[in-house]
Amino acid sequence: MIQPDNGKTAGKAYGGWRWFRQCHATKGWRALIVVLAFASQASATNPWPDHQWLTQPQAAVLAAPEKQLEDVQAVLFLSARSDPPMVSRQALWLRYDLDLQGEPGVPQTFILTNENVILAEFTLYLLDDRGRLISSHPLGMNQPGLAQKRPAARYQDRIQVPGPGEYHLVLRLFSSTPLAPALLVSPEVEQEYLNQNRIATDWVMLVLTLAMFAFNAVLLYGRADAAYRWFMVFHVLIVFYFSALTGFGHLFMPLSVVQFLSTHIMAMNFLLIFLIFSFAIPFLGKGADQGLLFRLPLVRALQGVNLAFALLSLVVPDVYLFIPLVLMQLVTFGPVLYISAQQIQRGYGPAAFLLGSIAVQILGGAIGTATYSGQLPVSWFTLNAFFASTVVELLLMSFAVTSRMRYLEARQKQLLLQDPETGLPSRAYFSKVLSPNWAKLSAQMSEPVVVLIEIDGIRSMIRLLGPTVAHRLWMQATERWNQFLLSQQGVMPLAGYEADANGSRQPRAAMVLWSRSSFMTVFDAADLTDLDATMAPMRTLVLEEDDHRFEVCSRMAAYAVTDMTESLDELLRKLNVALITAERENRYIHYYSDQQNDFFIRQNELNRTLPQAIQRDQMRCHVQPIIDLGSGVVVGGELLLRWQHPTLGNVSPGEFIPLAEQTHGISSLTREVLRVAARWLSAHPDEAVSISVNLSVLDLVTRVDDQDLAMRIAATGVDATRLKVEVTESVLMENPDACMAMLDQLRQLGCQISIDDFGTGYSSLAYLSRIRPNEIKIDRDFISKLETSVVDRDIVAAIVRLARSMGAIVVAEGVELETTLTLCRDLGCDRVQGYLIARPMPLPEFSAWLAAHSPMVS
Ligand code: C2E
Ligand code: CA
Ligand code: CA
Repeated sequence: MIQPDNGKTAGKAYGGWRWFRQCHATKGWRALIVVLAFASQASATNPWPDHQWLTQPQAAVLAAPEKQLEDVQAVLFLSARSDPPMVSRQALWLRYDLDLQGEPGVPQTFILTNENVILAEFTLYLLDDRGRLISSHPLGMNQPGLAQKRPAARYQDRIQVPGPGEYHLVLRLFSSTPLAPALLVSPEVEQEYLNQNRIATDWVMLVLTLAMFAFNAVLLYGRADAAYRWFMVFHVLIVFYFSALTGFGHLFMPLSVVQFLSTHIMAMNFLLIFLIFSFAIPFLGKGADQGLLFRLPLVRALQGVNLAFALLSLVVPDVYLFIPLVLMQLVTFGPVLYISAQQIQRGYGPAAFLLGSIAVQILGGAIGTATYSGQLPVSWFTLNAFFASTVVELLLMSFAVTSRMRYLEARQKQLLLQDPETGLPSRAYFSKVLSPNWAKLSAQMSEPVVVLIEIDGIRSMIRLLGPTVAHRLWMQATERWNQFLLSQQGVMPLAGYEADANGSRQPRAAMVLWSRSSFMTVFDAADLTDLDATMAPMRTLVLEEDDHRFEVCSRMAAYAVTDMTESLDELLRKLNVALITAERENRYIHYYSDQQNDFFIRQNELNRTLPQAIQRDQMRCHVQPIIDLGSGVVVGGELLLRWQHPTLGNVSPGEFIPLAEQTHGISSLTREVLRVAARWLSAHPDEAVSISVNLSVLDLVTRVDDQDLAMRIAATGVDATRLKVEVTESVLMENPDACMAMLDQLRQLGCQISIDDFGTGYSSLAYLSRIRPNEIKIDRDFISKLETSVVDRDIVAAIVRLARSMGAIVVAEGVELETTLTLCRDLGCDRVQGYLIARPMPLPEFSAWLAAHSPMVS
């Protein structure tokens, strides 16, 4: 029932609105208030009692589109009310019965406004109670002179009735898109005010969509990313879509364009699906790396179908496209929602916004479609639900892209902090996260213990197995270690590694990679009873690769932190020292102590100064005589290096020779010794004395300045027949074939070969017989124990027999006592060397010594 405004009822019902009109609000403010009113009254059944939507027809009839009013007047008085179909190729006729109250004889005027602006044909017939036509009003796109009308007054007309009574409004709709009328009936006095609101609403919609577009354009400016590009295109389409659907396009486009778009809403629907999908695929794909449901060709196919339907809908009536539209929505949005949910579970947060935005869009679209197709009663809320949901959708999408940017940035940062292959915290994590926060982190623990663990033998693994297999073994070993540490009590959690990619709250890293082969972890000793026992099972890891089993040993250094102000870098430096000590002393776990530090500092100093030692004339050669036991004649001397260090004093070769071997400085030392030997020998051509020099394995196997050792010796001009080279057993066994070849060359040169420190290594007898040494030097260890140990006596006797069988002479080293000398002679040694005869002496003294001590023992 429609109440005309006769001025009496106005006071109460219009109170709010009158105030609204009277407050001379600017257009913008009104617009805002309209939006707020819209929002606040969305749920009210009838917000404006004076404006009424025609919602419940008394009768509905479908007829051929050609049929005009006369043909259907017969059915006007049908009492049956059938629900109008969603869409139809026929024209829909609807009848509304009006019972108008009022003062008899006083004509009443109403304003009719059609809010469903996309209706191609929409005509309204006013009939009296006997079915006689009073007036007819085309109110769709068929309204004459539409373009000339004020935009606010478009799709609007007035009806006049002579007085109260029964009337009929018959609506004829024809459009291949939605069929429901959205017809607002309002008292005449409200027209101006209503139209102002319509314009204000249009502006709000336009400004809102453009502002959001501008905001996102600025936000995404310069980001060349498929997801963001599609988002902007989607945005543009939304502006045009709603300018046609709700009609605000008239604010900036000619009516003909708006109407063209209106009649092709369906094409735009397919385009919207296409664009959301185009956006969603890269958006969801880039965020996390795995498990995309769609393979690319399938996506392409779907997108092709969407575009094909968009084109098709330019020619095919919309009626036939409703089912395809719903299907396409299902096959595109369904997977997008599914993948979104999956990605959220995997910890890709931004997908939640996308999921939300699509959900909101589906809800709003459903309400809008149901309203425009007559399934839901028409109201401001239902009419604008689609637009409102799109605004929310765009907002959520903006959140989605910004949170994705943040996510990617965070991931980028995270990636910089982790080892690309194992995903474990890297050295960068150590220096950027752990180290700066160390004071805070260690304070949270009661007894922090920092542990540095080294996987042993990576280098020899690479040498033996090649880099690829060695690397895989290393990966396996670190992974095993990480899992082991994660399962231990008291391991410090690492910030940023609390959750794994599946979103579970399990921490996924307990250690920080410190170098290629070592990593660190931190324990709270309060939660750990016995570190040694805890770590014991990890001492040797059995790994499998290509069906082969490998054993990988580890060693570790631990440091119980007492001074919380000490930096983590300093702690790690100390642990490194402890680790080197552990390696030197062949221990599994080693606790750091300050003595180790002193040792380390000394080593560093030696390492630093060793390269210049020769130039600075700090190296001297001493010589220790070797005498023949039978004749007592001095038969030779062994050159032994002495380093006179400027600050550390005398440094023993036992200390600096291994360093020189590690740093490849050994060849220049050997060259120096060879030169000294050459000089001495050429200065004493008459002496029947040979000079022994010590060689390291590097001397034998490396070329220096493209010269091998034989060439280098020849270059010194030394009398090779008086030169004896001493090679230790263990050195020979490191690389037997190469050493053997070089020794053969040296022999050809005329050099004599001596096996040094015999008995300490594990030489194979097979190799020994191939070397055919001229001399075997029995290690000091055996000689010094001859008096006390029967076993050592037996060993020496055996060595003597072995040497004899190979035709080598035997030298006993380190003879300090007369009794030892006697024993050596009894056991069959040929020569002796040791403090008893002489300590190593400076070379210039040797000549004098020779003269004075010849022959010595008789
Ligand atoms: P080595 O070749 O076994 O040299 C013998 C070592 O035993 C020398 O120690 C010598 O001073 C010491 N020695 C000799 N007689 C006695 C004794 O009666 N009692 C005791 N306790 N020791 C005795 P040094 O000079 O400290 O050299 C240590 C090691 O350094 C050498 O062991 C040798 O392997 C290495 N070395 C020395 N000079 C050179 C060099 O020019 N080149 C290379 N590659 N190694 C060298
Ligand atoms: Ca020696
Ligand atoms: Ca020796």
